[in-house]
Formats: sequence, C-alpha cells, structure tokens
Amino acid sequence: MTYDPNNVFAKILRGEIPCNKVLETEHSLAFHDINPLCRHHVLVIPKGSYVSLDDFSARSSEAEIVDLIRSLGEVARMLGVDASGYRIMSNHGHDARQEVPHLHFHVCGGEDLGPMLRLPK
Ligand code: AMP
Repeated sequence: MTYDPNNVFAKILRGEIPCNKVLETEHSLAFHDINPLCRHHVLVIPKGSYVSLDDFSARSSEAEIVDLIRSLGEVARMLGVDASGYRIMSNHGHDARQEVPHLHFHVCGGEDLGPMLRLPK
C-alpha cells in the first residue's frame, strides 16, 4: 500500500491541524485520541511515512524502532498507568479496520479494559 500524504496524522505532523500533544521525540509523536475509548487513550506515531506496522517493521531504521518503543513506555508512565496496567494496540489493514493509514499505536488505560478482543456477531 502506498502512503497517502494527505492522511490526518500526516497533517498533524506537518502542523496543518492541531493535536493535544503528550510527548515528542526525535522520531515519534504522541497525542490524545480525539475520540477516547477509555479514560486514557493516547496515540503514538512515528514521524516517518509508514502506513502501518507492516512497512514500519520492514523499512524503518533501528533508531526509529527504539524511539517508538521507548516512547510507548514513556507515555504509559506519563499517564500514570504503568502500575495499574494498560493495553497497546495497532491496527493493520482491512480485517483490523484500520481507519488512519499512518502507523499508530493506541495506548489505553486508566480503567478495567475488559476482555482483549470481542468479535462482531
Ligand atoms: P484506527 O482505527 O486504529 O486507524 O484508529 C484511528 C484513531 O485515530 C481513532 O481512534 C480516531 O479516534 C483517531 N483520530 C482520528 N482523527 C484524529 C485526530 N485529528 N486527532 C486525534 N485522533 C484522531
């Protein structure tokens, strides 16, 4: 899948639309989800142009990977959910119902998140 530079997260990265920033590093950006599904719902994205984990895992540099993983842990600590627990999810493609075609990790916590997965009937 080719990267669409007009996706909403690309616009956030270019400063064309605002975000509620939590953390910014050399290679990553974290901001609150506009439609939170739980008490704390933050998105962590790479600054590079990656559609999903599929091409990030294949094309990204080690520095980008390290930065993203460290950012995920740092965001959880900043939210204060490291002791109570949290869930990290990333959707890739059709079956996962990925909406925004720029790699993002959902960091969710702050309450009991229920079962890991509930399939639609
Ligand atoms: P996904 O279904 O994994 O692609 O999730 C996309 C997420 O992006 C959803 O949780 C949306 O609420 C969130 N989202 C969409 N637009 C924005 C925005 N402008 N700022 C913050 N989060 C957004």
